[in-house]
Amino acid sequence: MISMKKRILTGDRPTGRLHLGHYVGSLQNRVKLQDEYDQFVMIADVQALTDNFEDPQKVRENVKELVLDYLAVGIDPSKTTILIQSMIPEIAELTVFYLNLVTLERVLRNPTVKDEIKQKGFGQNIPAGFAMYPISQAADITIFNASLVPVGEDQLPMIEQTREIVRKFNLLYGEVFIEPEALVGNVKRLPGIDGNTKMGKSLGNCIYLSDSEEELKKKVMSMYTDPNRIHSTDPGKVEGNPVFIYHDVFNPDKAEVEDLNKRYKEGKVGDVEVKEKLFIKLNDFLKPIREKRREFEGKDEILDKILKEGTEKARGVAKETMQKVRSVMKIDYFG
Ligand code: ATP
Ligand code: MG
Repeated sequence: MISMKKRILTGDRPTGRLHLGHYVGSLQNRVKLQDEYDQFVMIADVQALTDNFEDPQKVRENVKELVLDYLAVGIDPSKTTILIQSMIPEIAELTVFYLNLVTLERVLRNPTVKDEIKQKGFGQNIPAGFAMYPISQAADITIFNASLVPVGEDQLPMIEQTREIVRKFNLLYGEVFIEPEALVGNVKRLPGIDGNTKMGKSLGNCIYLSDSEEELKKKVMSMYTDPNRIHSTDPGKVEGNPVFIYHDVFNPDKAEVEDLNKRYKEGKVGDVEVKEKLFIKLNDFLKPIREKRREFEGKDEILDKILKEGTEKARGVAKETMQKVRSVMKIDYFG
């Protein structure tokens, strides 16, 4: 049945398990919006391979980890279509046509791509596929006629690039696509436990939704705080301090957060107490997610069925879009 609801397209790279940054940046919105929208969640294995092409096994293994994380946070496969990017070759086809509509200069001006090239240490050897991934992402979004894309702040340049491609395509060939809007989460960009401005799978600074209580404790107790504070009697800085940012986001006891803030600034509380209190609240938050995940772990048959059905449904939509594309681009040779 064709749904009349507006469509969401969002997704993750199968490069690791999902973390707290994903939760506040995008997952929370997905769970909230899955009733109101016809939501498609893509497991972007093609994109993951652009910087992990020498490690296909890693990408393969993480596909199921993502599905487990989705189920654990409450993404419901009866409402949300979960699909695997590489199993929809029409996306690759559309990407090829989009490559004509973007200049090399424009691609390399993308601030997120620039940051990632630096971070991954490509130097002068940037894989062409990696530099072009925002174009393939434009194909991901538009092939499903998505109007809304829940993403973290680092992905905003990708949505801008997508909108530019849509405008150019529609102008040149005819109105086929919708210009999508980005929707950033509660927290645009959650910092890492090492103080990096972004928690990221490839940065090794994550608290995963699936971390055990012991792992969580170890990570929280080793978190980066105010580097200039040597003794617990020194006045500390809460702004930009990841421990306090996490308290603001994950500690529902606002009076406790306020008290810790005040005492930290006055040099009246040690890092250990602030971190122990954060651990308790994070553990309260993660416990039900961990438990729900465990219900599905090892149930490969269920996970495969979700992926297969979602991918088949999504492929039907992609094929329809490509028919329109072929027609307006005058390459529908045999009808
Ligand atoms: P990788 O390091 O492999 O790129 P990642 O942690 O950046 O992994 P992605 O799969 O690239 O995760 O991103 C999936 C979605 O989660 C994107 O919309 C991204 O913006 C969002 N996201 C990722 N990290 C954060 C974060 N720290 N804060 C907010 N949103 C985030
Ligand atoms: Mg990323």
